[in-house]
Amino acid sequence: MRIAIVNIGSIVSGDLDHPLVAGDTIVLEGDRIVAVGTASARDVEACDVVIDADRTTAIPGLIDSHVHITFGDYTPRQQTIGYLESYVHGGVTTAISASEVHVPGRPRDADGVKALAVAAHKCFAHYRPGGMRVHAGSVILEPTLTGNDLGEIAKQGVWLAKAGFGAFATAFEYAPLIAAARAHDMITTVHTGGASIPGSGAITGDHLLALKPHVSFHVNGGPTAMPDRDFSRIIVESDIALQICTAGNLRTALLCASLAERHGAFARLLIATDTPTGSGVMPLGMLYTIAHLASLGGVAPERAIAAATGSNARVYRLDTGVLAAGKAADIVLIDAPEGGTQATALDAIRNGDIAAVGAVIAGGEPRFVGRSRNTPATTRKVRVAKSAVARDFSASAH
Ligand SMILES: [Zn+2]
Repeated sequence: MRIAIVNIGSIVSGDLDHPLVAGDTIVLEGDRIVAVGTASARDVEACDVVIDADRTTAIPGLIDSHVHITFGDYTPRQQTIGYLESYVHGGVTTAISASEVHVPGRPRDADGVKALAVAAHKCFAHYRPGGMRVHAGSVILEPTLTGNDLGEIAKQGVWLAKAGFGAFATAFEYAPLIAAARAHDMITTVHTGGASIPGSGAITGDHLLALKPHVSFHVNGGPTAMPDRDFSRIIVESDIALQICTAGNLRTALLCASLAERHGAFARLLIATDTPTGSGVMPLGMLYTIAHLASLGGVAPERAIAAATGSNARVYRLDTGVLAAGKAADIVLIDAPEGGTQATALDAIRNGDIAAVGAVIAGGEPRFVGRSRNTPATTRKVRVAKSAVARDFSASAH
């Protein structure tokens, strides 16, 4: 399918270095973006579907890098089905599993741990709930695993490893397995802050600096924060990515963002939700944290959006999260919510409002055009101006 989005008010790229792009048109072909900014009338005419953005704002599909995926579109923790499809209505087009820790009765032995990671990875390879791309199968590091075990599952496609819930006496003991996971080219992540479930201990600055993971999971606490003094140590003494989560400590999320700005490390700041957990299912969690950073933390809205898109994509090596030719065709149209005080999506976010979602395109397919089930209505009205495809894009597609 070839799609043109025309009459865009502003384009937020997701790239922190160049967060705004001039122009009013985006063209997609198949699952790729082919042009951002301008397109000839002929190119637009040749499209199967033309979406009139009505001067709303285009952003990359949001990437939630901390979702408690299990199997299917179901969370046992909150006993809710269809939550991932619901997140698509909050503008999330990519979810990264925080490891399958919430699978009831999850195994602890090496064979079971490996089988769980491989099965979760492969189950989501061709399954897109609501159109969302899910990267699952993050192996939970346990003392029963060896470096060879990690090599075996890496060959099966597993590329995420998570430390923090294994049966180790202290968190320092994860170091050899994290190093082994890195040697197999996996992205390594470490739980940060106070214990979130019984049996896991607090993990703070000393642990992170010794373990050297790619990402500090919920650096602001999941949900309990580590000591304030540890934030600047991690920022200055390491290159660990700083994932701030909606379901964490808001004060330390803002502290971490301001320290990252001060030390020139904002590119390492990632936004995620850490849901569904005890805090629940939060389809608008990404939009909340973007609004919190912009309205309370003084971060420019387009930079906060980059932390939720392009910065996540860079750290996790994904080919989405940035609006540029060749990237995945994952695009969200947002606007000032109807009845609010602000004129544009970016002004609304700066004001602390939740942006209204007017359309989501994921994997090159419009998942809905017009009205999100979860956000307020948009002020302007995104609509399908032309379609040669026998599909009703106004309803949520599966
Ligand atoms: Zn978590």
